[in-house]
Amino acid sequence: MPRYVIIDTSFPSAETSVQLPGYPLLLDLSGRRVVVVGGGGVAARRVPALIEAGAQVHVISPEVGAELPGSGALILSRGYVHGDLEGAWFVLACTDDPTVNEAVAAEAARRRIWCVRADFAPGGTARTPAVTRSSGLTVAVNADDDPRLAAAVRDAIRVQIDTAALPLRPRRPRPLMPGRVALVGGGPGDEGLITVRGRRLVADADVLVVDNLAPRSLLSTVDSSVEVVEAGKSPGRQTLTQDEINAVLIDRARAGLAVVRLKGGDPFVFGRGGEEMLACIAAGVRVEVVPGVSSAIAGPAYAGIPLTHRGVAADFAVVSAHIDPSQPGSTVNWQALADGPATLVVLMAVGKLPVMTVELVKYGRAPDTPVAVVTDATLPTQSVLVSTLGRVAQDAVAAGVRPPAVVIIGEVVRLRDGMRV
Ligand code: SAH
Repeated sequence: MPRYVIIDTSFPSAETSVQLPGYPLLLDLSGRRVVVVGGGGVAARRVPALIEAGAQVHVISPEVGAELPGSGALILSRGYVHGDLEGAWFVLACTDDPTVNEAVAAEAARRRIWCVRADFAPGGTARTPAVTRSSGLTVAVNADDDPRLAAAVRDAIRVQIDTAALPLRPRRPRPLMPGRVALVGGGPGDEGLITVRGRRLVADADVLVVDNLAPRSLLSTVDSSVEVVEAGKSPGRQTLTQDEINAVLIDRARAGLAVVRLKGGDPFVFGRGGEEMLACIAAGVRVEVVPGVSSAIAGPAYAGIPLTHRGVAADFAVVSAHIDPSQPGSTVNWQALADGPATLVVLMAVGKLPVMTVELVKYGRAPDTPVAVVTDATLPTQSVLVSTLGRVAQDAVAAGVRPPAVVIIGEVVRLRDGMRV
């Protein structure tokens, strides 16, 4: 059963003696005739919700905008004449001519039909609130005939619902069913950079299996009843092997719990999310993946470096330097990268800077190619070191650069100077 919240911010005020009509309602318009007089932008915005509510919508206007013919409304291509409201339950006067709107409102009043006037709200007998619907909840906001304020309040509430900031959990359908696993990309670290779906799943989890590079500040928002399992590698924190992580996900899901595996960046970008997904599937556990903003994308953005830029770089590659580039185990083709994509983004590269830059120069990248190293991207501790391919390894040591860092190699790094605001 849908539930309703109606918010009316029109408080009695000393200056105005005329108050807004004060009785909020939701109308059942299904199968009922609703007349919309006018065919411009306002009508085009109002008609879809009326159609969705099941109304028989009749638009009366000599001309109509392009959206209306396919909207499901019946269109009468002529001007309004007295008598057009015969049989209507509700009317919206939205022409750009106040005298027509006034005449419509007058006929509506005589016939005792509720009327909304778009040009002059007090000239009608009803108001249309700003509305949002989500998960069986309808929120309608009126702000004393200030539609922008109403829309802003409506949007703010919607964001709170979507991000689970409003504590609606016991009364809402759960986004994550018990017994399932969600592999959630948490983004690069700033908690504002997780997706709305990811945030909702985190708020709904019974168990959170968290990486070191996930947006850890979100942990302070979870209920004390939630089991938090530390999976990431970090001094002082419990470290699990990949097999142990997979086992935790599967065991907790089999126990009927809603499990969120909260990962840094995107789960499928050097995150072993694929392995976790396969393990869940092999165990017969339902699993979904929620993409995240990879540090490969967010790091450059937060350093003011566009990965592609017209006339400078038309392609980029994201690679891992985890395995020593000079060793046979490396599956990255450094030779191809040296004369390949204009921009290279390298993750897990801090310890490998000397050998990696030597490889790239050996295969032909110019030693004076600009390089940026973005450490703790998107976090308050973010720092950016700018150097060149030939010098970055020693500059990084001198600057004491530590992981996590994203390394960006290419001419686009020069654009950073103009990107600072
Ligand atoms: N799935 C993650 C990457 C995991 S591999 C993603 O999509 O971002 C771990 C590497 O990611 C780190 O070694 C570092 O290179 C990079 N990284 C992750 N978070 C970072 C951050 N906040 N700042 C800089 N680099 C980061």
